[in-house]
Amino acid sequence: MLTASGLSTRLKIWGVRGSIPVPGPGTVRYGGNTSCVEIRADDELIVLDAGSGIRELGLALENEFGSRPINLSLLITHAHWDHIQGLPFFVPAYNDKNQIQILGYDGAGSDLREILNGQMATPFFPIALYDLPGKIKIQRLESMDFKIGNVHVRSKFVNHPGVCVGYRVLTSKGSIAYLPDHEPYEAFKLHSAKSHLLSPEQTQKRAREDRAELVKFLQGSDILILDTQYTDEEYEAHVGWGHGSLSTAISLAIDTSVRKLILFHHDPTHDDEMIDKMVQTARKLATKRESYLEVDGAREGAEMTLG
Ligand SMILES: [Zn+2]
Ligand SMILES: [Zn+2]
Repeated sequence: MLTASGLSTRLKIWGVRGSIPVPGPGTVRYGGNTSCVEIRADDELIVLDAGSGIRELGLALENEFGSRPINLSLLITHAHWDHIQGLPFFVPAYNDKNQIQILGYDGAGSDLREILNGQMATPFFPIALYDLPGKIKIQRLESMDFKIGNVHVRSKFVNHPGVCVGYRVLTSKGSIAYLPDHEPYEAFKLHSAKSHLLSPEQTQKRAREDRAELVKFLQGSDILILDTQYTDEEYEAHVGWGHGSLSTAISLAIDTSVRKLILFHHDPTHDDEMIDKMVQTARKLATKRESYLEVDGAREGAEMTLG
């Protein structure tokens, strides 16, 4: 478990999957839980997304803190199930000593509070979110630049169905970018241009501009946790589904001078062996570009330190 310390920024991965949890013998090494990442930095405890991985995090936190209160900020990227489904099972929310600040943006047509209350409303769950004993505050974000204590956070809308952001968490020891769900602009724009009245030239220009903005947002991150749900071959059959592919992830990481790329949001059909192969392919692609980029596959329980 991570310990609070002002000396370094630490990150621990609790959930790695996209779409749905997939426990079983084929996912033992990388893990089967959906998105959840813990960051400890500058005396803050920040959690990124509340996929099913947050359940184990909750148990570990209660074990670590004992009778001491837990004070944490939970940043939600978007309200797809795989990013909020663990919240009803997050044990710290059931204890009145704890303070949980939930931050996120409104979804398409509905506000964050409604969405989080909705998944725990009758008939979906036996206990309402507002009946939980923990001191839970839901805060709708409007600014794309804010602070959690001394930690500076920037956000950016990314290319994913509905409303979805990526976060860049800037700590005193370095920065972590988290884009669990994002489709590269290039092929997507050409694909969706068919239903709009844009020429291929206009479409490509817009895709280049959108990518350039993303490059600026990510520039120089120490760690980039990025959606690489598909191999390049799989992506061909899933353009428009809102997820990334290996070679576009490698080129984005290299163009943004990221130090370490973490392949994230593993497809539910990918077992450990498949993810091993994807990591190998990604490393080869980076070597081919004569880059020093470090590449790893997101694995539950993995810890990283900055500073
Ligand atoms: Zn997702
Ligand atoms: Zn999503």
